[in-house]
Amino acid sequence: MSERISVIENIMNANDHLADDNHARLDQAGVFAVNLMASPGAGKTSLIEQTLPRLAEKLRIGVVDGDIATSLDADRAAAAGARASVQINTGGECHLDAVMLQQALNQLDLTDLDLLIVENVGNLVCPASFKLGTHKSILVASIAEGDDKPYKYPGMYRGVDALVINKIDLLPYIEFDMEYFRKGVEVLNPGLVIFELSCRTAEGLEPWLEWLAVQAQSGK
Ligand code: MG
Ligand code: ZN
Repeated sequence: MSERISVIENIMNANDHLADDNHARLDQAGVFAVNLMASPGAGKTSLIEQTLPRLAEKLRIGVVDGDIATSLDADRAAAAGARASVQINTGGECHLDAVMLQQALNQLDLTDLDLLIVENVGNLVCPASFKLGTHKSILVASIAEGDDKPYKYPGMYRGVDALVINKIDLLPYIEFDMEYFRKGVEVLNPGLVIFELSCRTAEGLEPWLEWLAVQAQSGK
């Protein structure tokens, strides 16, 4: 094994170890956490904005927002009614890692939360490799990105527990072959839970909300 590979392995091992710590800490506090991943502009923040007010009566929800430079998304989460929202500026890093989530957890009163939504940095590559310690990974895809994404980013599609296909209101205007897209997903991640919805029109939100609430209430 080359020096370089062993250095990378050590980094990943350290990250996984810390992710396990985060996981134990969330479990102990009774907080169910999801890692929300997507490419930039797919609608992670919009999905959070649509989700928060609709689940606010059932669940106390906190948001951790990873961003390369700004706090715009955390501000939007706070405006949408997050019980607490923490911004992590990654300082140019294109993904969140377990240390960053640990620092965010330090800023939250976990006893005051049932569900923690972690919005990862918009990127379909490395977020898939860095465990955070969350309970479920959710990928947000969007019609606007095109129907070839499962074929181009297999690592991301393979590792997630649920897939939200956002912007279905654009289907009449964009060449997007849903069957081709879903076939690509099925090969990589057979039986994956998939929600087709539009954050703009709110069409299709109900099954997603129901699933998330059930996960949060029973999946810890
Ligand atoms: Mg965002
Ligand atoms: Zn990265």
